[in-house]
Amino acid sequence: MANLTVFQQEIFGKLPEIQKKFNEPMAKHTSFRIGGPAEVMLFPKNTEELAQILKVSAIMDCKTAILGAGTNILAPDDGISGLVICLKDAMDGMELLPGDRIRVAAGVTMARCAVFAAKHSLQGMEFAHGIPGTVGGGVYMNAGAYGGEMCQIVESVDVMSPEGTVKTLSCEEMDFSYRHSRLEEERGIVVSAVLHLAPGEESTIREKMQDLMNRRRTSQPLDLPSAGSAFKRPVSGYAAALIDQAGLKGFRIGDAAVSEKHAGFVVNLGNATAAQVRELLDRVSGLVAEASGIRLEPEVRIW
Ligand SMILES: Cc1cc2nc3c(=O)[nH]c(=O)nc-3n(C[C@H](O)[C@H](O)[C@H](O)COP(=O)(O)OP(=O)(O)OC[C@H]3O[C@@H](n4cnc5c(N)ncnc54)[C@H](O)[C@@H]3O)c2cc1C
Repeated sequence: MANLTVFQQEIFGKLPEIQKKFNEPMAKHTSFRIGGPAEVMLFPKNTEELAQILKVSAIMDCKTAILGAGTNILAPDDGISGLVICLKDAMDGMELLPGDRIRVAAGVTMARCAVFAAKHSLQGMEFAHGIPGTVGGGVYMNAGAYGGEMCQIVESVDVMSPEGTVKTLSCEEMDFSYRHSRLEEERGIVVSAVLHLAPGEESTIREKMQDLMNRRRTSQPLDLPSAGSAFKRPVSGYAAALIDQAGLKGFRIGDAAVSEKHAGFVVNLGNATAAQVRELLDRVSGLVAEASGIRLEPEVRIW
C-alpha cells in the first residue's frame, strides 16, 4: 500500500483500540492453509468500526478485501498488498427475535449459529451446521448443503457499501441464486442477517445436525486442508462424478491434489502453493472437458 503510513495515521488516530496485524500470513486465516502475508489486517468489532475503516480506505483509494473464516478462498502466494478486513469472531453477536427469528452478526460461524438455533428449539439451520464458514460469507455466496441454502432462511440482510453506508435488503432484493447473491457485483458487505426459522424439537434438530455431520465425515476429506468443493455444480451432472469418471482422483501438482476420498475436493497435502492449486484447477477443468464436454468452473474464490 503506497500510502500505508498516512492510512495508519488516519485510521489508528480514529480507532486507536482496533485489533490489527501487519504482514499477517493469509495461510493462518484460510482453510487451505495457503497464502502469503496481508500487508495490513484489521478486525473491526462492530458496524461503526467497519464503517470508519471503509470510509478512510475509500478516501485514500486503498484496496480492501473482506475475509470471513477463509474457507472458500485461495489466497495468493506473494500475499496481499493493501488491507484485509477480517470479520470472523470480530463482528460477533446473536439475538433471538419474536416470530422464530434470529439476528446474527456477520462474523459468527455457521456452526455457532446453528447450535444457538437448536438451543432455542428453532429448525431450518441444520443444513448449515457443518459448513465451516461465517454467516456473512454464507449469506454473501448463498452457501448450501443437503438440500438447504441460506436463501431459504434469510429474511433480511444489513449490507454495508464499500463507502461505509448501511442499507437493509430483503431476501428477494438479495437476488440469490446458486452460490451467488447481488453483493458480489456490488461489493456489498454483510454486517448482519435476520434468519427466519420454524419451531421444532431441540433433540430432533440436534439429531439431524449430528446425522449431517456424520455424512460429511464419511464422505469428505476433513482431515486435510481444503476449501470445500473446488468446482461449482455444472448444469448437468456433478463435478465430483465427472472428475472421478475422468480418472482424476489423486491427480496432483506438487502438494495440491484431487482428494482420493471425494473427487470434488482439492486438498493441500502439506506444502501446496496457490500457484499449484490454480494449475491443478485448470488442468482438471480441461481434462474433464476433454472427457465429458463439460467445463467446470471453480467454486473457490481465487484472490
Ligand atoms: C471442509 C469444507 C466443507 C465445505 N462445505 C461447504 C458446503 O457444504 N456448502 C457450501 O456452500 N460451502 C461449503 N464450503 C465452503 C465455505 O465454507 C462456504 O463457502 C462459506 O460460506 C464461506 O464462508 P467464509 O466465512 O469462510 O468466507 P470466506 O472464505 O472468508 O470468503 C468467501 C467470499 O465471501 C466474501 N465474504 C466473506 N464474508 C463476507 C461478508 N461478511 N460480507 C461480504 N462478503 C464476504 C469474501 O470476500 C470472499 O469473496 C466448505 C468448505 C470447507 C473447507
